[in-house]
Amino acid sequence: MMESDIDRILLRHEQIHRRVAELGAEIAKDYGEAEAGLTLLPILSGAMIFVADLIRELPLKMKIALTQISTYPGHATEPSEPRTVMELVGDLRGRHVIIVDDILDSGRTLRRVQEMARRHEPASQRTCVLLRKTAKAPPDIAADYVGFDIDDLFVVGYGLDFGDHYRNYPHIGVLRPEIMP
Ligand code: 5GP
Ligand code: MG
Repeated sequence: MMESDIDRILLRHEQIHRRVAELGAEIAKDYGEAEAGLTLLPILSGAMIFVADLIRELPLKMKIALTQISTYPGHATEPSEPRTVMELVGDLRGRHVIIVDDILDSGRTLRRVQEMARRHEPASQRTCVLLRKTAKAPPDIAADYVGFDIDDLFVVGYGLDFGDHYRNYPHIGVLRPEIMP
């Protein structure tokens, strides 16, 4: 069973859900009166659960664009150079764009997507992450909306994977050491 692979839970689903609702309210306040339309750009696959919950907290007309980047191929727990699996699909030009990711770690993934989005000439561009590893996040990669600051641990659940597993685990937790290499 999946549950037995988890060593400890860092953030329970209820707590995540409350924070996602707060982020949604913040974004709704910031963009509610905006002239240009809003496009959220989640970075697949890690951000899919987060963005699905976040957009249902937004009482705004909005669009979704997609891109897929792979940073931890297979069973790696140390990041490699990000690989663009799927180029950007969607409508960014002249729109307010919020890039959405599960976690800001070394910042390489967000740097890649921020550059990619900028080339589509959005009206404005911001970044929203559920988690941020404060120990590592570089100062030049800013996140405008942050759910939780966490320690430098490899976490899974709520969209975050290890070897593509555990994305469906509802909480965010740390794996038992014997599961990880
Ligand atoms: P960065 O490019 O900032 O180093 O890493 C960001 C990406 O790596 C995230 O989109 C996420 O997919 C993955 N990542 C970073 N830290 C973790 C972690 O602790 N657990 C998991 N499962 N993925 C992570
Ligand atoms: Mg990712």
